[in-house]
Amino acid sequence: MIGIFGGTFDPVHYGHLKTVLFVQQQLGLQQIRLIPLGQAVHREQPAATASQRLEMLYAATADYPQLVIDDRETKRPGGSYTVDTLSSIKQELPDEALCLIIGSDAFAHFLDWHKPETIMTLAHIIVMQRPDSQPLTNPAIQKLLDQRQITSAEQLKESVAGKILPIQVPQLDISSTGIRDRLQSDLTISHLLPLPVYELITHWKLYKKSSEEPD
Ligand code: ATP
Repeated sequence: MIGIFGGTFDPVHYGHLKTVLFVQQQLGLQQIRLIPLGQAVHREQPAATASQRLEMLYAATADYPQLVIDDRETKRPGGSYTVDTLSSIKQELPDEALCLIIGSDAFAHFLDWHKPETIMTLAHIIVMQRPDSQPLTNPAIQKLLDQRQITSAEQLKESVAGKILPIQVPQLDISSTGIRDRLQSDLTISHLLPLPVYELITHWKLYKKSSEEPD
């Protein structure tokens, strides 16, 4: 069973890393793929380039062999749709159960994603509770949970896809938006992400108010 964790990673931070490592251990996942999006479809385009976000991810995960960086979305032309990413991983690993790991803020809008029913045929969904997440109020999401929610990691093994497992993760009130905002205000960010990522951001002068080009 492998975990799939997509994100903008603009930049990657401890909120991403500590929570996925926690999920990996809780569920006994053999690996988690961190997949930075190429072209956003539901949000603004990232401030950092795909190669910068990838380099930050490689730097952040160097000590964690169970976290694998997967660059397929940054190589694919057009919008990055999770359904396409899961389909291509499934083609490579047809016998592997896939667990799509998303924050509860993202899950609240899951039914607006491209082909959510197909996604549920390709993977289980693991919903991580985020610090600032609101209770789910969408009746359609609630109905989906009523039909598909399970309560233990053991139940994931009963099928290869289609279950939803909410999981409480250590609450780390860190977001990439918060980090970019702090840099705009010249506030320190070094406690919010791994040192090698901090050094890359400093080196490239990323996310600063002035639009200086990277070296
Ligand atoms: P932004 O602030 O730019 O929206 P973000 O910090 O939410 O970015 P993303 O790369 O967009 O990070 O998020 C990828 C995934 O990581 C999403 O499913 C998101 O919910 C989850 N995530 C991000 N930060 C945390 C955190 N502190 N705790 C738990 N999950 C998180």
